[in-house]
Amino acid sequence: MKIDVVSIFPDYLQPLRLSLVGKAIENGIVDLDVHDLRHWTHDRHRTVDDTPYGGGAGMVMRPEPWGEALDDLAPETGAGTPRLLIMTPAGRPFSQAMAEELAGEDHLIFACGRYEGVDARVGVDAGKRMRTDEISIGDYVLNGGEVASLVIIEAVVRLLPGVIGNPESLTEESHATGQDHLLEYPIYTKPPTWRGLDVPEILFSGHHAKIADWRRQRAEELTRERRPDLLPPVPAASTITIERAT
Ligand code: SAM
Repeated sequence: MKIDVVSIFPDYLQPLRLSLVGKAIENGIVDLDVHDLRHWTHDRHRTVDDTPYGGGAGMVMRPEPWGEALDDLAPETGAGTPRLLIMTPAGRPFSQAMAEELAGEDHLIFACGRYEGVDARVGVDAGKRMRTDEISIGDYVLNGGEVASLVIIEAVVRLLPGVIGNPESLTEESHATGQDHLLEYPIYTKPPTWRGLDVPEILFSGHHAKIADWRRQRAEELTRERRPDLLPPVPAASTITIERAT
């Protein structure tokens, strides 16, 4: 997978060189390029922002450097064009389902906003020649899109074949497709007792079916308690009319 990230703080993306994503880059599973948006400016001050039309606080990222950056990074149109992801708290909420979908792409471009964000015309213009999504990583506001890009890249890259040692661990996780919308059950390792807290007895039983049942019950309890919104709505009970014989 090819990944381009455009930011005015390219160093913010350095952590991608560490750990499993870093290894995926070293192994050639991911080809990552981080670009400085100021490379596409032409004035002495390398300006990327200006005051908002219509007034208001803060500065807005000008469209020209973004337009030129995207022209360079995605010159072709049609099949095989990259998918552009513009980071914004006003975007579609990022999810595991979206990570699974993005893991099937060949080329992703991440646009990291700063200040009050990117001029709205950038997404419209890019949308004429490539699939373009505005994405939010949650209902809160960060200073810039770099951390949001880090989050999405990590969630996507760990799903690529060869990145995680045991691919089964990906299918059994919270939020993974096929987990019936359940959070993961509580997990334990050695020692069997720690600070007076015991590992549940059932996990030593070696009885796989009973362990699976126990885990399923714990996962359901946990999901009901913490994230009832994840569970599908319970269908309304149908009304049964009983006629009495007289
Ligand atoms: N004025 C914008 C608004 O109210 O929607 C917020 C701009 S924010 C201070 C600056 C940049 O941080 C955004 O352009 C975006 O790239 C990034 N950002 C902030 N919060 C984000 C979030 N929850 N998800 C994705 N990107 C975010």
